[in-house]
Amino acid sequence: MKIKKIVVSLVFLLIVPLFLMSQTEKVDLNMIYRIKQEGLKNSAIEELAFGLTDLTGPRLTGSAGSLRGYEWAKKKMEELGFQNVRIEEARDFNRGGWDNYKAYAAMTAPYYINFACNPVAWTGSTNGIIKGEIIFLDVKSENDLGKYKGKLTGKIVLMPSTSTYEVSYEPLASRFTDEQLKELSMAVQQQGRRSPAGDYGNFAAQMVLRNKISEFIKAEGAAVILNSAGTFNVPRSTGARYTKGNQEPVAEVNLPVEAHGRMERLIKHNIPVEMEIEIQNKFIEAPKIYNVIGEIPGTDKQLKNEVVLLGAHIDSWHGGTGAADDASGCIVMMEALRILKNLDVAPRRTIRVALWGGEEQGLNGSRGYVEKYLVDPKTKEHKPDFDKFAAYFNMDNGSGKYRGIYLQENDMVRPVFEEWLKPFADMGASTIAIRNTGGTDHQSFDAVGLPGFQFIQDEIEYDRGYHTVMDTYERLVMADLKQNAVITAAFAYNAAMRDAKLPGKPAMKPRTNVLQNQSSQFPMN
Ligand SMILES: [Zn+2]
Repeated sequence: MKIKKIVVSLVFLLIVPLFLMSQTEKVDLNMIYRIKQEGLKNSAIEELAFGLTDLTGPRLTGSAGSLRGYEWAKKKMEELGFQNVRIEEARDFNRGGWDNYKAYAAMTAPYYINFACNPVAWTGSTNGIIKGEIIFLDVKSENDLGKYKGKLTGKIVLMPSTSTYEVSYEPLASRFTDEQLKELSMAVQQQGRRSPAGDYGNFAAQMVLRNKISEFIKAEGAAVILNSAGTFNVPRSTGARYTKGNQEPVAEVNLPVEAHGRMERLIKHNIPVEMEIEIQNKFIEAPKIYNVIGEIPGTDKQLKNEVVLLGAHIDSWHGGTGAADDASGCIVMMEALRILKNLDVAPRRTIRVALWGGEEQGLNGSRGYVEKYLVDPKTKEHKPDFDKFAAYFNMDNGSGKYRGIYLQENDMVRPVFEEWLKPFADMGASTIAIRNTGGTDHQSFDAVGLPGFQFIQDEIEYDRGYHTVMDTYERLVMADLKQNAVITAAFAYNAAMRDAKLPGKPAMKPRTNVLQNQSSQFPMN
């Protein structure tokens, strides 16, 4: 072989592997090891969980509890050494503040039994303790309302129940099976949540009727409305559609479906049912909706103003302590940053945690953040931070461990996430699903064309417990949350260190009208 040829071959041998290497995503396995050690052996998850559940209590948007939550998170972030910690205004809140101070409901005839109950948020109070026979509204259509005219003033009114209890043969808690994960990774797969009343048409018609009934009851001057929500033996929290400044809605409580069903059946057997009930709520001057933010600043000259964002929502419903929904997500994000802080990492980009307020009333916190920093809500023009936005990762599917990640149809990140998930195969977190997942804050970023993602999580008890009085500390699976914090920390670190930001989805032209063209080419016969 001639010298020249050898040189050419050598150059080729050197360049080709370099070229190939640049094609694969680099993962710093030393750092992953350290993150795992810190997150699994030195975890603060339990302490954070106690703080944001038992200690702060429920954090309904606009309630005193929501302010306790913001304050607790800010103080904790400062203690953990995060920087630029702040409680930041996100949006106005049109419902205003509301808090419950007392809720008592018992059946007193034909015999005494007290019921767990949860007042409907943004409804009014009873005038002290109300005692008396309850009136069951046997209403199947709007026409049935006439027979109750003039009979509801000052009364306890039981709404017709919307669901019948069915025995469940599902396990109380569940994890994804390998088969389910495989299915989830397939593009055709679309798992929708079951609608509350089976089919949506029926559900929509029921909602229209229920609104009519509500208006009627209010006009008739009932003292209190009894409702049930949820499908298990605990009341689920809901809220009235109230706008601040309007008249307070009639007091209303949610009972367990079993309590509702028992009284309805007694009345249908012509047995008079009496109750005593007292509800004390307070409408308070509305604070705004806030986000709690903290970060580890970036260190690279060129990249330090770019942001990798981790988020979850800090608001909850008022029945439990919003543990699975979504204190779990908040503490995982805080713990992920704590891990990185404790390892003294020097990320090239800034890694920021944002705990969103007002998610349950329409993604208010994250949308407020997008409007403030990223996209002008009126002109749709990008703000300066838009081009510095590297990635967003969200957790809001309960306490279950990560089983992988949803791509949100962003095929461009698949090879990146495949590499990032490899070190966590032994934790069962390797599934990548192309599909969208919705219902929470990553959508605020995805909607404006930024790379926003949510992890796939085991369901555990989420479907039974979310928004109910049983969404408390006990619903948290600490071992799962520790793993989630470790994986989140690794994702945040990788996103902060790689040369380029994560790719967004390329903009697409809207489709042309195909049908018109077809009809001219293929005349009907
Ligand atoms: Zn949630």
